[in-house]
Amino acid sequence: MRSKCYDLHNHTIASDGELTPTELIQRAITNHVDVLAITDHDSVMGLTEAATYIDKNKLPIRLINGVEISTAWNHQDIHIIGLNIDPENKRFRVLLEDQKKYRIERAKKMGERLSKLGIKDAYIKIKRYVPGDIVTRAHFARYLVDENIVKNVSAGFKHYLSKGKKAYVAPNWCSMATAVQVIKEAGGQAVLAHPMRYNLTRMKLIALLLEFKQTGGEAIEISHCRQTDKERAQLEQYTQKYQFLGSQGSDFHRLNSYLDIGRITPFSSCIIPVWHNWSI
Ligand code: AMP
Ligand code: MN
Ligand code: MN
Ligand code: MN
Repeated sequence: MRSKCYDLHNHTIASDGELTPTELIQRAITNHVDVLAITDHDSVMGLTEAATYIDKNKLPIRLINGVEISTAWNHQDIHIIGLNIDPENKRFRVLLEDQKKYRIERAKKMGERLSKLGIKDAYIKIKRYVPGDIVTRAHFARYLVDENIVKNVSAGFKHYLSKGKKAYVAPNWCSMATAVQVIKEAGGQAVLAHPMRYNLTRMKLIALLLEFKQTGGEAIEISHCRQTDKERAQLEQYTQKYQFLGSQGSDFHRLNSYLDIGRITPFSSCIIPVWHNWSI
């Protein structure tokens, strides 16, 4: 029997993904994913459509209610995934509302920065790039590409949107500790997303892991689409040393040459997976 395929990190049009929740489920089924978490940035708007589509069509896939919360830790954006959260939990809903508000405030300021650079009305014009209620820098990047201001999305980040670049505005995210607390209060498990993507020094990464553990973080994302074998091995070591559970996810946004739903290198069987006590 083949082992179950878990993909616990995916985006839809509820944030900056390019597939609807229905399309995401269809692609996950095609790719034989058994357990799929939808983890939109600061949003749970995609969950109902996905669950309804699965139920109606009696599809052989288990949906995990998830979220990816943007947080601040030592002036660094850190992403915390919540798995198996109750999307109706009051404190959780309030947190998401606050995050949405910070995103709108930041987007307005980014629009002002772009305006000073001669790119007028960006905040108004990006609205048609935002199908849900969550505005991200990725939406700005797509707009800059369509306006022929940059060649592609990466160039949009490189020249305008990344930290320190011309249109960058520091966000006002909740603290990492708050996100972990609220995820737990909503009945979920907190997972540190893509620890190697923050470009931290070894010392800082260890400090992050320790603080995440101390605040109640349970798992770290060991396998991720953009990860080398060496990075994965290093994360497996940290997972064991600091007694975390392991998680994995493609971080799917759209289909491309290195990214597809369920396309993840599994982590070692020495690691206890975040799903070890799930009733599946
Ligand atoms: P935000 O949450 O609004 O700060 O936007 C961050 C999102 O933009 C991430 O979730 C990625 O999907 C995307 N992103 C960040 N950096 C890059 C990059 N260098 N190239 C392409 N997409 C990026
Ligand atoms: Mn994203
Ligand atoms: Mn992320
Ligand atoms: Mn993500």
